[in-house]
Amino acid sequence: MADPTTCPACGASNQCALAEGDSGAPCWCFEVSIAPARLLALPEHLRNAQCLCPRCAGVLEQLQGRPHDAP
Ligand SMILES: [Zn+2]
Repeated sequence: MADPTTCPACGASNQCALAEGDSGAPCWCFEVSIAPARLLALPEHLRNAQCLCPRCAGVLEQLQGRPHDAP
């Protein structure tokens, strides 16, 4: 049931580059800081199993503040 490419909070794609198997690409989650409270709000068994999506992680503003060189 657990899918590492989906957000455990909302079920949308978490866009995690690592979970999608592209180990050469840095994931967006490397470039932002996620508030610890966001992670603590998750059930413990999900906390280190699946990445949140950018929206649930509360980092959309951080991501949008960066230039995107990929379409
Ligand atoms: Zn989400």
